[in-house]
Amino acid sequence: MTAREDFVVAVLPGDGIGPEVMAPCLDILGQAQRQVGGFTLTLNTVEAGAAFYAVSGESIPSTSLDHAQQADAILLAAMGLPSVRYPDGTEIAPQLELREQLGLYAGVRPIRTLAGLPLPLADRRGAHLDAVLIRESTEGLFAARGKTSYDGDKIARDTMVITRSVCERLFDFAFHLARERKESGAPGRVTCIDKANVLGGFAFFRKIFLERAELFPDIETDCAYVDAMALNLVKRPWDFDVMVTENMFGDILSDLGAALMGGMGLAPSADIGDDHAVFQPCHGSAPDIVGLGKANPTAMILSAAMMLEWLGARHDNSWCVVAGSLIRASVGRAFSSGVLLPFELGGAAGTDEIVACILEEMQAVDHAPT
Ligand code: ATP
Repeated sequence: MTAREDFVVAVLPGDGIGPEVMAPCLDILGQAQRQVGGFTLTLNTVEAGAAFYAVSGESIPSTSLDHAQQADAILLAAMGLPSVRYPDGTEIAPQLELREQLGLYAGVRPIRTLAGLPLPLADRRGAHLDAVLIRESTEGLFAARGKTSYDGDKIARDTMVITRSVCERLFDFAFHLARERKESGAPGRVTCIDKANVLGGFAFFRKIFLERAELFPDIETDCAYVDAMALNLVKRPWDFDVMVTENMFGDILSDLGAALMGGMGLAPSADIGDDHAVFQPCHGSAPDIVGLGKANPTAMILSAAMMLEWLGARHDNSWCVVAGSLIRASVGRAFSSGVLLPFELGGAAGTDEIVACILEEMQAVDHAPT
């Protein structure tokens, strides 16, 4: 592989607190780029979202879609506003359109706690949580979006779609991730989450999972029903390594995962396909805190770190990987003393203060690629 150094990133700040967390995130990316060197990011900010739809009638214009398609990576903050809806009552969600159109089947949702922050669950093992939920992000029950069939005002039907081709790539992604994590000391286990006891689509999902598992004999596998997983993720979340599930179940369980970390503002994510990837915090546009300076930018910043690590691995650029690690480690150090407590965790640290602490931690480090 030939190493690449120059990357184009399509930046979509979106709605609500989106621009409030995106702006400092770009500052952090700029700092990482200057401090580490060895790569450049050309950031192309483009329009999309509910506010854009309200004035233009389009959720994402074709020019924005073109920029996203041509970019090496896409960085997205938050899209959608409860007050702006399509005629059928659903919210404007270009991030879902991007996932479908760019084939971003693997929604990677790390459930990793940060030392120093109060957590809703006491970890009886004294260790921090480090698991990953992989949410299929292009089909499942979300495939029914915009295709609901109505029988007058009496019945509405939404159909779940599970395809072999997407499932095989999804499960292989999960097994490869478990293998990679195993090299760093994780158990090397993938748990398939479904409802195979009730719905044929999920029995098919599980059947393909077990078929693909045979190709990865070094990785342990198990299967669990989603209702049991909701219970077990609260009772014993530290027993899980990589989990893989359907789109709607993943949507719900990833918010549970964010809660285990302390709040929505701490949960990063990546939606990865074979040719494209979007990096976006798990949270939405949080209209209740817009303009108050209370948005926690950590999830956005950690999503940008995931982007750098993905770009570096994909294009054989170790500087990019180092820059991602620098950001991640600096976020960890910023919170580790327990003094920096975000508003969403009952503290008084707003967006600016959190960003200032992370930048300070970054500047305190002298980094060079290994
Ligand atoms: P979506 O359906 O678009 O994912 P949502 O309805 O799940 O969005 P969010 O916008 O994620 O809702 O907000 C859920 C709650 O979490 C709100 O109370 C919001 O203020 C809070 N929240 C979300 N993101 C952050 C953040 N970055 N910092 C602080 N609080 C946040």
